Amino acid sequence: MHELKLKVIGQPYGAMCIIHRDLHVKKAGEVLKRNRKIVLASHCILNINSKVYGIATEPAGCGQIVSGLLDNGYGIIQLPCAEQACFGINRWGQVKNQLNFPAFRSRCYELLKPIVEQVSDFYQNGYEISAVIGLDGSPACGINYTCSGNWGGEIGEGYDLDSKISSLDKLSEYGVMMEVLSQMLNEAGIVTKYLSVDESCPEASSQELMAKLIE
Ligand code: SF4
Repeated sequence: MHELKLKVIGQPYGAMCIIHRDLHVKKAGEVLKRNRKIVLASHCILNINSKVYGIATEPAGCGQIVSGLLDNGYGIIQLPCAEQACFGINRWGQVKNQLNFPAFRSRCYELLKPIVEQVSDFYQNGYEISAVIGLDGSPACGINYTCSGNWGGEIGEGYDLDSKISSLDKLSEYGVMMEVLSQMLNEAGIVTKYLSVDESCPEASSQELMAKLIE
């Protein structure tokens, strides 16, 4: 039996009221409907528009991964895109060593602070923070690996562009924002897994992610 309860929690605002809806599904006296499992996902998994131009693999977001998470009972908190917050949507692609400077790390901390506060509230009230889900290769959101290289300076002719590009390499470290986030979660005493997805193989990646979440 379904019963929709409407509770007024605010003052009338013009002709409108702020209404809070609590959906209770009653079955043999139980209140159901809440799994208490949450993941934190890199921003562009849900909104691919934040990526550097040229590397989006879907028009809007990674549907298979998002629906796989929801279908398997995981609520999703979307992390901020630290690169866009600092360098905008018209930024160039960058490598970790270009982002690994104090002001960028401070900006990550500021962006993540309200999220970590919300997550701490959930955690202290018995919710499971099942995983942080990042994107390998990203200088900010990499988990298993990020990217490094001798990048920087001018990129036109006569500025040794070829050798800059060819210095691109994989680095088996977190990206900068994930380093800051893992430190903040550790300091808050929150234990979780750090996983990544491969958007270029969404179906396989979604299945692999679900298997790792229940390991
Ligand atoms: S910084 Fe993270 S969220 Fe932003 S585009 Fe890169 S991988 Fe996605």
